[in-house]
Amino acid sequence: MPLNRCSKCGKVPADGLKNCSGCHGATGVYCSSQCQKAHWKIHKPMCRPIGPDDVWGIKILDNRHQPWSCQFEHVVLNTSHPIFTRGELCPVTEKCGYPLVIYSDSIHGGIPAQENNQPAVYLRIEAHDGFAPMRWQLNEPGTCYVVRQDRQPLTKEAIEIIYNFHSYLLDIVNPEFAVNGHGPWRQALSPEWLKSFADEYRQDEISREGRLGFDFFP
Ligand SMILES: [Zn+2]
Ligand SMILES: [Zn+2]
Repeated sequence: MPLNRCSKCGKVPADGLKNCSGCHGATGVYCSSQCQKAHWKIHKPMCRPIGPDDVWGIKILDNRHQPWSCQFEHVVLNTSHPIFTRGELCPVTEKCGYPLVIYSDSIHGGIPAQENNQPAVYLRIEAHDGFAPMRWQLNEPGTCYVVRQDRQPLTKEAIEIIYNFHSYLLDIVNPEFAVNGHGPWRQALSPEWLKSFADEYRQDEISREGRLGFDFFP
């Protein structure tokens, strides 16, 4: 699926987007060389051509690889991978307009795992009560995979923000709010809420950690 916005700033320039020559535009298209340069740190690990049936996703390693910042890895998944038929929609991401699909080697693939996967369980929480389904709580999910439902490339930075958004939601869960029909939070889950969280998170990382290269998201 061709990218239709600048991978760095999200703009759609009138004179068209330029493909990154390294990946032929598979994960990088830009409005300007400034944007391309500013995005390189994020883009580099995904800068290679992929086949028409390939999708960039994220592999979430199990908890032996903690902390979570060490658990996310870029991965190319062929559309024959079972995530595309048996994966589960992550409910919070759907409500927030950035639907992700998750697949567990253990829960869906029948590959027994002895290790939990905390980021994966967080991503799987239900939007109405903030709990992951019992099969995610009682079984060890082991290695998991995540892709965007629209099969656009999923970056490590995006999954980092979304994971931290889930973590934040779990911190502020209050069952008393669940009665009003929008889940156990003071306000309804929405793309605006995720976006404001993402903007704040990014600003924090840039000013506190000096990190560069966060791309347009969502
Ligand atoms: Zn741009
Ligand atoms: Zn590239």
